[in-house]
Amino acid sequence: MYIAGEWCFADGGETFATIDPNTGREIARIPRGRATDVDRAVSAADAVARDWQFTDAIARAALLRRLSELVSANAEELAALEAVDSGHYLSKARDLVSAIPLWLEYWVGMADKVNGRTITVPGEKMSLTVLEPLGVTAHIVPWNYPLLVMVRSIAPALALGNTCVVKPAEDTSLSALKFAELVEQADFPSGVFNVVTGLGPEAGAALASHPKVRGITFTGSTETGRTVAKLGSEHIAQLNLELGGKSPLIVLPDARLDDAVEGAIQGFCSHAGQVCIAGSRLLLHEDIADEFLNRLEARLKDTRVGDGFDEATQMGPVVSLKQYNRIMDYIEIGKQESVLRIGGGRPRDVGSDGYYIEPTVFDKVSPEARIATEEIFGPVAAVIRWNKIDDLISLVNSSEYGLFSVIWTEGITNALNIARRIDAGGVIINDWFGELPMTPHGGTKQSGLGREEGFEAVTSYTQVKHIGINLESRLTTNWAEAPL
Ligand code: NAD
Repeated sequence: MYIAGEWCFADGGETFATIDPNTGREIARIPRGRATDVDRAVSAADAVARDWQFTDAIARAALLRRLSELVSANAEELAALEAVDSGHYLSKARDLVSAIPLWLEYWVGMADKVNGRTITVPGEKMSLTVLEPLGVTAHIVPWNYPLLVMVRSIAPALALGNTCVVKPAEDTSLSALKFAELVEQADFPSGVFNVVTGLGPEAGAALASHPKVRGITFTGSTETGRTVAKLGSEHIAQLNLELGGKSPLIVLPDARLDDAVEGAIQGFCSHAGQVCIAGSRLLLHEDIADEFLNRLEARLKDTRVGDGFDEATQMGPVVSLKQYNRIMDYIEIGKQESVLRIGGGRPRDVGSDGYYIEPTVFDKVSPEARIATEEIFGPVAAVIRWNKIDDLISLVNSSEYGLFSVIWTEGITNALNIARRIDAGGVIINDWFGELPMTPHGGTKQSGLGREEGFEAVTSYTQVKHIGINLESRLTTNWAEAPL
């Protein structure tokens, strides 16, 4: 682990295994940090919080720029670690890692441009606001995009003057540890960035409940998010919760069907469906539903599921045996609840090792079915047919989640009308680009609160201080006559 600029083991010397999902074999042992380790990391981050806050923003940006260059220089190793740990196939892991500098550089540019405002007030007075960092921020990260999800929150946090303690997911700690090596090489002051590895209910809970943690960014399931929110509320930490989803992909009769099919596959098969914004509910207009499904089936026949290190692979394994069993259970539930149209099990040509699942589509799914309402987090889509726009909107908004949505149509008026009525943090029209460093990302309802990315993320990593100044040479109001 990386605490206070030092590499260390967990206090008690305990470790746990990390597994390659391509083979099911143990590839490394990771320190099992607990509350004492978390306390060392938070105390180290707290000890330097003031110095880091008052380090010139341009100097903070220069360190982030060096870090970004080091990420580029070490991209191949970082990509291999993501592939072997979280199951991204290698070429996808390379694409992901090559995008990480965009996230870092967005905040390199932003570090010296985040300002408060001046406010007009009555009388000979002046008011202004300054945006200040929160102090120590905790970053609890899931396993699906370990590096990206960590960087999208620590980049603004560091740029805006916060110190960081990261708790990677237990299944995927390797890239965070490699990243900490690069932070060290970039010469960040000791204690500004720390990584404590460990299990969620131990290291994660200790971090969320540490009283010196002023801000918590939690990305993960809604269930754990609720626990983290309770722990953080005990010491009134600022919360940023990026939680689960059950996002709709809507196809209107006038959509470019081949593009919509391509977008749908990307939406529920990308990273084997283990994406928070996965388009796992296919809401197809009745008139095009059969044709859409015929084309989807034909296109999915070409999808190569297999070893992430095979150059031909387009969909790797799911992250763990636990996740594999969970998804297979949902597929069995789907078979009872609706009509299995495509896939439905383990691909035939992958052997017996590794956690591989076929792209799976269920048709004629009832909107209340479990596979239509619960987040499966695997390559499984539920088709629901609709006919009237009002029914479509009710279907979309009946979900307890509100993370993301996609609309396929050539009619911009229809698209914008539907977009306005959808209760979700994001709507994309005729594409499936979920995340960019410059656009805000986050959810409504059970999908979370707060925003990552884009200028909106400033509010997640700063607090507002109001400074008021009396400009008169002497006080002219009698205290007893003052309004407050
Ligand atoms: P998870 O909730 O199981 O774990 C997330 C993190 O929380 C891990 O680091 C884990 O160790 C930690 N954790 C677990 N129990 C904890 C506790 N009691 N206290 C503190 N920390 C604890 O989620 P996961 O299975 O790793 O990730 C999948 C989920 O993440 C899905 O629901 C997905 O939609 C969501 N996700 C959301 C976004 C987003 O931006 N909204 C992005 C990626 C993933």
